Amino acid sequence: MSITNEPERVRGRFLVTGVVQGVGFRPFVYSLARELGLSGQVGNTAAGVIAEVEGAAVAVDAFGHRVRTDAPPLAAVATVTFEPVPSRGGTEFAILDSTAGPGRTLVSPDVATCADCLAEFTDPSDRRYRHPFISCTNCGPRFTIITELPYDRPATTMADFPLCPDCTREYADPADRRFHAQPIACPACGPRLQLVQPGLETAYDEDALAAAHGLLVDGAILAVKGLGGFHLVCDAGDQAVVSTLRKRKDRGDKPFAVMAADLDAARRIAWIDAAEEELLTGSRHPIVLLRRRTGAAVAEAVAPGNPDLGVMLPYTPLHHLLFDQPGPCVLVMTSGNLSGEPIVTTDDEAVTRLSGLADAWLGHDRPIHVPCDDSVVRIVDAVELPVRRSRGYAPFPIDLPVPVLPALAVGGDLKNTFCLGDGQYAWLSAHVGDMDDLATLQAFERAERHLEDLTGVRPEVLVADKHPAYRSRQWAELHADGRPVIGVQHHHAHIASVLAEHRHQGRVIGFAFDGTGYGDDGAVWGGEVLLADYAGFERVAHLKYVPLPGGDAGVRNPCRMALSHLRAAGLPWHPDLPSVRACARAELELLAVQLDRDIACAPTSSMGRLFDAVSSLAGVCHRSGYEAQAAIELEGLVSSDRGLGRYEFAVTGEEIDPAPMLAAVVRDVLGGVGPGVVSARFHQGLAELMVTLADRVRAVQGLNTVALSGGVFVNTVLLSATTRALTGAGFTVLRPRRVPPTDAGLALGQLVVAAGLAR
Ligand code: ZN
Ligand code: ZN
Ligand code: FE
Repeated sequence: MSITNEPERVRGRFLVTGVVQGVGFRPFVYSLARELGLSGQVGNTAAGVIAEVEGAAVAVDAFGHRVRTDAPPLAAVATVTFEPVPSRGGTEFAILDSTAGPGRTLVSPDVATCADCLAEFTDPSDRRYRHPFISCTNCGPRFTIITELPYDRPATTMADFPLCPDCTREYADPADRRFHAQPIACPACGPRLQLVQPGLETAYDEDALAAAHGLLVDGAILAVKGLGGFHLVCDAGDQAVVSTLRKRKDRGDKPFAVMAADLDAARRIAWIDAAEEELLTGSRHPIVLLRRRTGAAVAEAVAPGNPDLGVMLPYTPLHHLLFDQPGPCVLVMTSGNLSGEPIVTTDDEAVTRLSGLADAWLGHDRPIHVPCDDSVVRIVDAVELPVRRSRGYAPFPIDLPVPVLPALAVGGDLKNTFCLGDGQYAWLSAHVGDMDDLATLQAFERAERHLEDLTGVRPEVLVADKHPAYRSRQWAELHADGRPVIGVQHHHAHIASVLAEHRHQGRVIGFAFDGTGYGDDGAVWGGEVLLADYAGFERVAHLKYVPLPGGDAGVRNPCRMALSHLRAAGLPWHPDLPSVRACARAELELLAVQLDRDIACAPTSSMGRLFDAVSSLAGVCHRSGYEAQAAIELEGLVSSDRGLGRYEFAVTGEEIDPAPMLAAVVRDVLGGVGPGVVSARFHQGLAELMVTLADRVRAVQGLNTVALSGGVFVNTVLLSATTRALTGAGFTVLRPRRVPPTDAGLALGQLVVAAGLAR
């Protein structure tokens, strides 16, 4: 018997699942295998990346470990499974073409232009100098250009741009950072910029850019094609053009987001801490809500009456080009649509639907396959609070605490997103919009089909809000096709949503505070304390019902809500109160009759409406031009919420009675106390109220975990004060970190609740 010193040679097949396509995973596997001296092959399949490697057993082992730990930055490995296969010998390592088939891979979100690409982009000797479509394995469009899986160039909207010889070489060279990067292009083979201006000839490439730049400097409004749709763009320092845009867009006072040329330019207009800087400059580049600097060189019309500014940094090469000549350092960058309508994605649609809004169109011939709005994020106590989860986040899945049946949850009617789920994953869609027009419904259907295609989820169950008049619910019923449609109560879904993203098991004390949600008794709920888990809920406390006069009219007129609250609390309409002064005599008389005779009044326990009432009583906002305006302005006045005292609520049984709080507000306001102090006392009073309520439930139920959800918690002052107070009282606080607390997060909650029922 001879002793051999040949090491043991083995071959194994690794299946890697997760976000592993479109993120440079095959090139990474190739380099790793070469480094470890392994032969074999790697390919994309619909089930994930499959790598077969052969070599020394210890090297194959190391491969199995490092394929997870050393994965590329944009990858998210979910599972790695190994199976031994017969040895085949050979020394080569091959990258195979993708194969279709059953299974599931996860698609990467779009990624902001990376530092390596920017270095080439600004290097005059580079062949991609100033190329508006520069991208690589680590950056560029993904979700918005993928038409089907597996992810390969022919399955993207780059299919019509065959690679030139130079790009082909990079694509095929394992040592190149564009090895197998699907969206790559160059000036020789890539898409072309074009500027369309009514009455003028279309300009291309650098001419298009120069003309676009000139227009911006001259105070024009441009429609600019981005990753997930068109933006309307103008000089943010120019009050006249921003006001014009506001008028054309029919936008009321709702704030516009801005794009700053770079971090320095952003620092000149807003305060930015370390967490915010990381978010602004990271791979996702969302809009970050920042505290505006006094004297910032931003026109008042950008965000009238708002202490915050939504700021983002350039995230496509084209954005960088908009800032590279002397001109505005801060641009308004708002979704290219009319208020409420879905974002425009095609060049044709842009010219028709945005005619009358834009003066010129800076577009290109790389199609956007699926719309994706900018994401909006806030930092609260150094932790992310998502306000809109879209570009850079969608369609990244959420791993669920409970496995779910293949299901589609259709979300709510405002700020709609929907959610597909199957097994351990949920895919929350990008922002769709308000479901009140046909265009949005059509956008919903398209996005839903696309996400089904990408995820392979074939819903067996549909889930909707219980509101019988919700269009989302009606859509589900219309398209159920024999499948069950399960209704989930609005505030239960809110709480379940935050539980799911924390992967929490068991019951919690849930505070669901929002503007409007259909209650099980038919009333308009919104100030709810629920004892809840995925399977069900018990309403343990709620704001006392007051009449919401005239439905939407009551929402749009916070002064009327203030007067309704005063009347319900047995407080007189003192003529010196700002809410009374804000109304003409006729409005007061009409309102009195309406409330007395209960004409078109719906009972509501809405916390959002209580914020409206206090905002108006404090003289801050009497008429609301956009959602939550009164609450946002009230919050903005709080400079410090400590040491100023607080207002008390009364709690009797299940009812939270704001009467003592309102009486104190009236006393303060009539006594000349400023709105900032009133606001601070109100916020602090709410935080203390929540501790009182949570304490009561804890005493009876022994529960120690509190969950916060609902649109009211976009309020940083409240969220922060509440977390501090509850944590101080020994509670564990679950608050939204990955999924918005607003109705944009509703679908995830619906999904897990319905799955809970299905079990
Ligand atoms: Zn790059
Ligand atoms: Zn090329
Ligand atoms: Fe809600």
